[in-house]
Amino acid sequence: MINYLYQEQNWQKQLNDLITDPLELLNILQLSPDQLLSGAILASNEFKLRVPRAFVDKMQKGNPADPLLLQILPHHLELEEYPEFVTDPLAEEDANQLPGVLHKYHSRFLLTLTGACAVHCRYCFRRHFPYQENLPKNEDWLNIQNYIESHPAIEEVILSGGDPLTLSNRKLKIWLERIESLAQIKILRIHSRVPIVIPNRVDDELISLLKNSRLRIVVVVHSNHALELDDYTCSKLAALSFERITVLNQAVLLKGVNDDAETLINLSHRLFEARVLPYYLHVLDKVKGAQHFDVETSKVDHIYQEVLASLSGYLVPKLVREIAGEKNKTPLFGVSTF
Ligand SMILES: *Cc1c(COP(=O)(O)O)cnc(C)c1O
Ligand code: SF4
Repeated sequence: MINYLYQEQNWQKQLNDLITDPLELLNILQLSPDQLLSGAILASNEFKLRVPRAFVDKMQKGNPADPLLLQILPHHLELEEYPEFVTDPLAEEDANQLPGVLHKYHSRFLLTLTGACAVHCRYCFRRHFPYQENLPKNEDWLNIQNYIESHPAIEEVILSGGDPLTLSNRKLKIWLERIESLAQIKILRIHSRVPIVIPNRVDDELISLLKNSRLRIVVVVHSNHALELDDYTCSKLAALSFERITVLNQAVLLKGVNDDAETLINLSHRLFEARVLPYYLHVLDKVKGAQHFDVETSKVDHIYQEVLASLSGYLVPKLVREIAGEKNKTPLFGVSTF
């Protein structure tokens, strides 16, 4: 059921009206409060439930196993401890040079302008990352500029998160202009899940900001299931590519959500209808609290073989794992390599 309210409502209003109470969420979805075992409320205190109503609207009422719901509903299993699942699986704290900056990959420079996300994904590797203490302020720009200029190999700036599209267009414009002022930068990449969870974020002002930049713009969205991509969302994604913005998708392989070949094949087809190309399929980062989303290695391999055999090459996302300290994401070609 589409609730047309969310197609008319201003995105900032939607961002200020997120669902944060698990019981309200279950009530809207016509699910019993018994869905939440006692630990789930504790889990939600640790990493708050946060979900836009427009995303909840894409969920099936009365279905406790809805693949969109499973990604965001706090779960008592998040509290279990597993030695392999740690708070900072990518050792990002070690790579922090300046506030908000991660420069692990030679030509790409990652800038975090906000710690806020429109949605809290339970499997997120950043769920324990102390962003709030580490955001660049206006006066940090000079240092960031100096850093980039003393690393001439950097030619792409990636805005990541948090989620950069939770920022106002006014703030984005300020940072866009700063980045444009550096002649060595050719590409601006924006990693965001907001176009999927609040499609109205792709408003005329944002499109015009991006299409008038001298930089090549790449938007990498994050969708894990075709049901996230209703017609309205697809039209917003297509609107970006109509303006010569490259739009890619990254997904995470998640137990119970998309851990079968058919679901991944449907996702690729649906993305392509929205003029989006699949980019990465990440295996889960071993972050504390996400163990129940982990897919067994042999199963990953099996699923991926089937995806490879079924799709045109350009619709197959690269299966990758991020390994702390490696100079790039590590491609996985089969069980023996991981
Ligand atoms: C993933 C990532 C990038 C981008 O890598 P690509 O393979 O170019 O998508 C850049 N910096 C950091 C720190 C990353 O984790
Ligand atoms: S939107 Fe991205 S960064 Fe934010 S919680 Fe979800 S996966 Fe993590």
